Amino acid sequence: MLAWCHDRIHPVDIDRIISAELPDQNADPQLHSSVTKHMIHGPCGDFNPRSPCMKNKRCSKRYPRDFCGQTCTMNDGYPIYRRRDPGLGGRTATIRQRLKTFDVDNAWIVPFNPLLSKTFNAHINVEYCSSVRCIQYLCKYINKGDDMAVFVFSDEDLRHDEIKQFVLGRYVSSNYAAWRIFGYEIHLSSPTVFHLNVHLQKRQLLYFTEKNARQVIENPKGTTLTAFFKLCSVDEFAATLIYPEVPKYYTYNNNNWKRRSHGTELDNWPGVSRKNVIGRVYNIHPTKQEIFFLRMLLHVVTGPKSFADLRTVDGIICATYREACLRRGILLNDDHLHRTLAEASNCKLPWQMRRLFCSILIHCNPSNPLNLWESFRQSLSKDIQANLALPDGNDDVYNEALIDMDRHIRRYVIRGLSEFHLPTPVHHEAPLDVEYMSEKTTTLPN
Ligand SMILES: [Zn+2]
Repeated sequence: MLAWCHDRIHPVDIDRIISAELPDQNADPQLHSSVTKHMIHGPCGDFNPRSPCMKNKRCSKRYPRDFCGQTCTMNDGYPIYRRRDPGLGGRTATIRQRLKTFDVDNAWIVPFNPLLSKTFNAHINVEYCSSVRCIQYLCKYINKGDDMAVFVFSDEDLRHDEIKQFVLGRYVSSNYAAWRIFGYEIHLSSPTVFHLNVHLQKRQLLYFTEKNARQVIENPKGTTLTAFFKLCSVDEFAATLIYPEVPKYYTYNNNNWKRRSHGTELDNWPGVSRKNVIGRVYNIHPTKQEIFFLRMLLHVVTGPKSFADLRTVDGIICATYREACLRRGILLNDDHLHRTLAEASNCKLPWQMRRLFCSILIHCNPSNPLNLWESFRQSLSKDIQANLALPDGNDDVYNEALIDMDRHIRRYVIRGLSEFHLPTPVHHEAPLDVEYMSEKTTTLPN
């Protein structure tokens, strides 16, 4: 759960809210008992080499942690919490687990919040998250949708009973169930995001039945895009807008854009009102050439009146959307690829970014792949950085991202990344223990 605090917590306040130390048994016996019962990691390592956290003979959660006299915040990522050394006043405790006893000190404490631990007497790990990048990554992570599983019924009878299949095949997780029981909102988004169609001329999706096929073909239904062209031909104000701005001032109904009747009226345009609505044009993969360039023009050209108008530069109608982009100078220096990656970095998980980067290398002929890599290597490796808990700009983190991309791209290109003059990843003798977030693994690192 990501909780947003109304009043900002400053680094100096962290110790009041999060602790990674054994509490005083005499001052607060209840908290002491909860922490020693629920918030001790492992034990692993020499105490228990077969603990599930052990990978390559090391604890993958990096316990026992180093002692630290004072909580310090790093410029990016998670803070290092205070864990005082037993020699310097840190407490120790003896715990019993599976008939064995262990002496533990502050190096083994999973960060917790005293109030929550006392209230619920359960394992509740609380972490402070402040940097913008860190929050962006967590937001992407918690909004990525539910984890899914695919399975098959082998029972011949069941295979043909869709209702039974649905009932038997539906899994309701405990937190989802609780959410429904309390009757909370299932879906809420603010501000409103309005999806905008993008398609080549006469290539919009049409739905028809056997009966109305002819009628639909003779009089095809318009889309938000064709309605935008129509609007720009008749509405002076609309002609000053680019496509994604339209939903701010217009509502879409019956294949037509109409001026908003509510909202904040514009001073210099009487009769035009504005509302905080975000227009999002559907994503197009850069390998889909013409429609990709058409989408790009829609983000640059104000008030186009038709598909041909969109392709017109300095009075010349270009044959292709790509040519129009070239003439407008928006394909210089891989600008379009920079824009594509920048847009993806707002909402895509790092492993998805790495796949996109590979596609761009293979299909889009970037003139300077190294420059693209250097501009985006941080968002291409954010999951690895979180996983290894290393600071910003760490070469090991970038190297792991390159290893992952090299492995992926070798399915298509024999020479791997070196084909594109990108740094060749170094394979260490003892590989770092990175749990890649990918199609299959979805555990939140750290
Ligand atoms: Zn461990």
